[in-house]
Amino acid sequence: MPHQSITVAGVEVFPLCDAVGPMGASIRRPLPEMFPGGCHGGSDEWILHFHCYLLRDAAGRTVLVDTGIGPEDSPAASWAPVPGALGSELARVGVRPEEVDAVVITHLHSDHASGAVIGGVPVFANARHVFQRAEVDAAAEEVLAQVVRPLGERVQVVDGQADVLPGIRVFHTPGHTPGHQVVQVGELVLTGDVVLHPTQLADPRVTYLYDSDPELAVATRVELLERVRAARGMIATAHFAEPFTVLPPRDPGGPRVTSTVSA
Ligand SMILES: [Zn+2]
Ligand SMILES: [Zn+2]
Repeated sequence: MPHQSITVAGVEVFPLCDAVGPMGASIRRPLPEMFPGGCHGGSDEWILHFHCYLLRDAAGRTVLVDTGIGPEDSPAASWAPVPGALGSELARVGVRPEEVDAVVITHLHSDHASGAVIGGVPVFANARHVFQRAEVDAAAEEVLAQVVRPLGERVQVVDGQADVLPGIRVFHTPGHTPGHQVVQVGELVLTGDVVLHPTQLADPRVTYLYDSDPELAVATRVELLERVRAARGMIATAHFAEPFTVLPPRDPGGPRVTSTVSA
């Protein structure tokens, strides 16, 4: 069953399911090694979902957030469970690639950026592609060659907070990667890989094995989740099973909801 869209602040948000499955053996680890100190509910295996999102504003303009795993020969093929299905997911919601007005790539990991350029050709031919400067500056040469340079003049580099369209804004959220960014519309934040697994909602201090700067990632995650909770907002995640998660505010006087299991 395809995920349902929601409308936030006049913008319709469509979850696009690019793939579902475990990581490949080259980088797969049991969950307690992936998220040290987290509570994983007994299962050691992580079945990831890979979500991209299409945003459509009241004027019909579209923003694609992340471009997924890409085709069979993508750089993600060494570890992603299956090739990405973004193209058919976009068709399902009635959008042709050339109709996309802007693409936001939360970060340059191969499961988020590999659907932007296929066979050396930009897929979203009429879209500007928004990156944080810190992400481009930190990118490996092969990533620049595969993703960034083929986009040519479609690349829009921003520094920190910037409006992609009126009411659709990116924020620099470093830690998972140096130039990771999230997208906010109304009280919804599309969190990319600031949050990877639900155990990090129970305790945002739980680090992730593949964060480039785990301490900075924790600081970013704590700050972002507290901000969303305070606004009674919602997050749209890349790798949870369900695309949207409502974050109730913590009651400072009441019992803290924790994932701790006492023996
Ligand atoms: Zn990532
Ligand atoms: Zn990811």
